[in-house]
Amino acid sequence: MGVLPFHPDSCADFLTSDELHRIQLHRLQTVVRASYEHVPLTRQRMQERGVKPEHIRSLADIAALPFMQKTDLRDTYPYGLFARPMSDIVRLHASSGTTGKPIIVGYTRDDLNVWTSVMARTFSAVGLNQHDVIQNAFGYSLFTGGLGAHYGAEALGATVIPISGGNTERQIMVMQDFGVTAICSTPSYFLHLVEAVEASGRGFGNLNLKTGVFGAEPWTDSMRAHIQSRTGIKAYDIYGLTEIIGPGVATECEQQAGMHVFEDHFLMEIVDPKTGKTLADGEEGELVLTTLSKQAIPMIRFRTHDITSIITEPCACGRTIRRIRRITHRCDDMMIIRGVNVFPSQIEAALLEVEPTLPHYQIVLSRKEGLDQMEVRIEVTEAMFRDKVSALEQLQKRMEHAIEHVVGLRVNVRLVEPRSIARSEGKAKRVVDQRKEG
Ligand code: ADP
Ligand code: ZN
Repeated sequence: MGVLPFHPDSCADFLTSDELHRIQLHRLQTVVRASYEHVPLTRQRMQERGVKPEHIRSLADIAALPFMQKTDLRDTYPYGLFARPMSDIVRLHASSGTTGKPIIVGYTRDDLNVWTSVMARTFSAVGLNQHDVIQNAFGYSLFTGGLGAHYGAEALGATVIPISGGNTERQIMVMQDFGVTAICSTPSYFLHLVEAVEASGRGFGNLNLKTGVFGAEPWTDSMRAHIQSRTGIKAYDIYGLTEIIGPGVATECEQQAGMHVFEDHFLMEIVDPKTGKTLADGEEGELVLTTLSKQAIPMIRFRTHDITSIITEPCACGRTIRRIRRITHRCDDMMIIRGVNVFPSQIEAALLEVEPTLPHYQIVLSRKEGLDQMEVRIEVTEAMFRDKVSALEQLQKRMEHAIEHVVGLRVNVRLVEPRSIARSEGKAKRVVDQRKEG
């Protein structure tokens, strides 16, 4: 039997803009009304502004609504933003807490169906189908990655291996013995697997793996190039966040040219992170998302803190849902070093530019005599480690120059022994800030 070009649910990726806008407006009006009626915080804020649900007559009217922030979830912890009684809630998840106390989110049965559907569309967009064997190395836990990807892959009709994160030896055995064709994980954990495969003397050429579905943390195009050339697979970027649904908010398609947002379920805006003013399409700013179909916790104009821009040109894949550019950082990721704003992604890109084969790094910030110091630790390979000292010194200098060129600051680069930077099974810890400790 032939294979359909995409999952039936993917039809929504190809709506005309008129159709899409009609669906969006209808859903927006419904979600705003539900939120007004059942979430005291939203009602109070709307009343303060004199906005009523019936004032939402067009999509542009969304600008009249107040923003929601991560802190709103913390302040109403655990269930304060739930718009449905607990008897309607069939699952809870929590954020991994990259930036503080975790927040709790809930799903109704319908919410789970939507989540499954957008994840099936995600897998379909990167070219997977029922013939694929998907190793799901996202953590199965309160973290949304594991179960989100799991049900989406099942709905696609693929064979799912619910291995979760960790136990690298077993991951490799499964990848080989079960004929795995696609893997889901954070990009940093996949790198760790790559090393382990190579260390075991096996090559990627002997595996069936052809697709990587990576997300949950920022990574660069340079990192993608490194992963692809080292393994021969195609590596795709997917995006999501617990507060909105989990993974399944946006995905790349086979063009690998920005991530399509599932706009029939998530309405996107880009705002100036400082003023909150709406920016024009194409301008870079903070992504703000409104859940159009979520029942348990409707999120209206949620400030993601993630920085990106909308790609206005149509995609060669034919999908009409718009794309956002790769998310290179979030606004709270920014390191301020001697007054200069620096993002980890800038460092990553600079390092890989100099030496594309050294993807493991960590940034350590400290303060010496009142002055901020930034040290970038980079792991070298075994072979390099045995090289002449002069060769290593040269490499170190070139890396220092490359970073200085990009961020305009002198930094210290320290080349460290292979495997001396801790590996993570989930999100990598790229920055250690010792300034807060001292
Ligand atoms: P936490 O905020 O605790 O990390 P989540 O697990 O919900 O909780 O993480 C969501 C965040 O992870 C996003 O807001 C974004 O900053 C980051 N993220 C997820 N996917 C990507 C991606 N593909 N590229 C860059 N950042 C991503
Ligand atoms: Zn596309």
